Amino acid sequence: MRLRVDDITAEARELTFPEPENEINRMLGVGAVRDYRLDGPVQVNLTYYRAGTELFLQGEISAAAHGSCARCAEEFDASRMRSFRYVLAPRSIGDDAAAAMRTEDLEFTLYDGDEVDLSPLIREQALLAYSTRPLCREECRGLCSRCGVNLNEGSCACPTETRDPRLAVLRNLKVRRPD
Ligand SMILES: [Zn+2]
Ligand SMILES: [Zn+2]
Repeated sequence: MRLRVDDITAEARELTFPEPENEINRMLGVGAVRDYRLDGPVQVNLTYYRAGTELFLQGEISAAAHGSCARCAEEFDASRMRSFRYVLAPRSIGDDAAAAMRTEDLEFTLYDGDEVDLSPLIREQALLAYSTRPLCREECRGLCSRCGVNLNEGSCACPTETRDPRLAVLRNLKVRRPD
């Protein structure tokens, strides 16, 4: 999705559009493990306006997605929403002025030409929404490292202390007894 710079005025306007998921899925799939996969386009609700030469974009994305749990390997619903704010300044202000305008709580970027391409910004937000380690739930108990049983669904007969490698280290410590 592109916005014509001339169409961005001081009066705020709203725009809703789908951002195709293909490129985002390709970026999410880079690396050894595919942790997340979008089920369809990212839905974008955007408000945009201008103040002088600066363009302000704010809104939210929502994505339907699935993840593959890092502990138990089960698929889980990973649908997310994320809000964002961007300020875009014309590239002609120069890099020093641009650096001075950056703040921590606001995404800041430069534009040039007579169009703003929203796709890179939306893709960036989607990747940020899926930057966390995929867990089906915070308290997921994972798989038994010995027999592979999913410990969310039941227990196994393995000795429990072998599941925690930190305990295994303690067990192997040789304690020197005084003579
Ligand atoms: Zn899990
Ligand atoms: Zn086991």
